Amino acid sequence: MTEMRIVFLGTGGGMPSRNRGLPSIAVKTSGTVILMDCGEGTQRQFISSGIGFKKEFHIFITHHHGDHVLGLPGLLFTMAMSGRVDPVWIYGPGGTGELLERLMHPRMGRIPFKYFVREMKTGDSVRIKNLTVGCTSSDHTQEVLAYYIQEDSRPGKMREDFLDSLGVPRGPLWGRLQRGKPIIYGGRTITPEEAVGPPRRGRRIVYTGDTRPCENIVEIAREADVLIHDATFDNSMRDEANIEGHSTAMQAAEIASKANVSLLCLFHISPRYNNPETLLLEARTIFPNSIVAEDLMDIRVPYR
Ligand SMILES: [Zn+2]
Ligand SMILES: [Zn+2]
Repeated sequence: MTEMRIVFLGTGGGMPSRNRGLPSIAVKTSGTVILMDCGEGTQRQFISSGIGFKKEFHIFITHHHGDHVLGLPGLLFTMAMSGRVDPVWIYGPGGTGELLERLMHPRMGRIPFKYFVREMKTGDSVRIKNLTVGCTSSDHTQEVLAYYIQEDSRPGKMREDFLDSLGVPRGPLWGRLQRGKPIIYGGRTITPEEAVGPPRRGRRIVYTGDTRPCENIVEIAREADVLIHDATFDNSMRDEANIEGHSTAMQAAEIASKANVSLLCLFHISPRYNNPETLLLEARTIFPNSIVAEDLMDIRVPYR
């Protein structure tokens, strides 16, 4: 079983505050880091989190507002200073390649590794080991992509009692059945359908970036294990939130409830909230399993 962890590097929105840096989330699994957004100061949070700069690295950018991208040059240069030579992959909406060219002027120094940019549009996905990372467009004041990370399903559990009753020894024959192939044992054909339970679903994480409440998010977040949702303001600021292309904590909770996720993490918290208690209480009236993401919070994503 592979461990999957989410490390919240920056959880504020717009500008940093005493307690919160700007948006960036690392999803870590088996030697790979998937970074969602890269706000200013992300590289320092990386150092504090102890993740390290030499893993396989994929960076997904939701949109081009400064608070989500200004950490890219700093992160890439810090990786270079740390001796990284392996390439980095960067994904984002249309125009991400041009944005990166502007952010990375050659006079700033040389990056000794390659970084590849792939621009994505709604419905696109990429394969990273046993994960699929895909996107849909959400609803903000500029083009924005919300991402899901879907782990492949795992083979079903072996029906041990059944196989033991037939005397099939544990080992290669069991392995063959688990890989979906029939075996012949004691003159009898045993099919994987009778010997192995249904496949077990992989884990799913959804990250919205900046968004108003949006049906496309409900679609990609259905039955997700973790939904990380824009919750910039409390309910008294609902109009401001929606004019500025954001959601309130309560609206995030409504989306979590519609999508029937397991856990909602409120994210992109405005610097006006020194204490996010109001946001949490409002969200929990609609969706009890809500938490407020905090900088350097590290959560394990369990199998359901
Ligand atoms: Zn933002
Ligand atoms: Zn924005």
